[in-house]
Amino acid sequence: MKKILNHLRTFIYLLPNITSVFFSKAETIKYPQEPSNYSSGFRGSVRINQQNCVGCNACVRDCPVSALQLIKVSKESFSLIHQQDLCTYCGQCQLSCKFNAIYLDNTYNQPSADRKNFRVVLLKKGKL
Ligand code: SF4
Ligand code: SF4
Repeated sequence: MKKILNHLRTFIYLLPNITSVFFSKAETIKYPQEPSNYSSGFRGSVRINQQNCVGCNACVRDCPVSALQLIKVSKESFSLIHQQDLCTYCGQCQLSCKFNAIYLDNTYNQPSADRKNFRVVLLKKGKL
């Protein structure tokens, strides 16, 4: 009998918390049924504003893990490659670019079992 009374007392004590759960907004999302929205400060992808890039090589030079590669044929013809599996998403390339061409945003890269898929051509300009 004492045990039942103890359980009842605990239940009454917790009742306000239990009822508030039914009337409050969910803190979690039903992932993957619902899309996951990352915070605006999350940095998961390297992007490029193609028309701004002049192929100056500053982002490649400053990348601490050599995740960027510039293949330059001439001043007008070049491509910029991003190796996603090396990138640490540190944002240094964005800081180094004086032309507001390369930037990071709050999307993320798709996973893959094939390493080839992580080599992404960010930009191709001119005749290559
Ligand atoms: S993205 Fe910016 S820093 Fe990198 S090559 Fe283009 S202009 Fe230069
Ligand atoms: S975010 Fe950092 S690691 Fe990734 S490409 Fe830019 S500089 Fe390199």
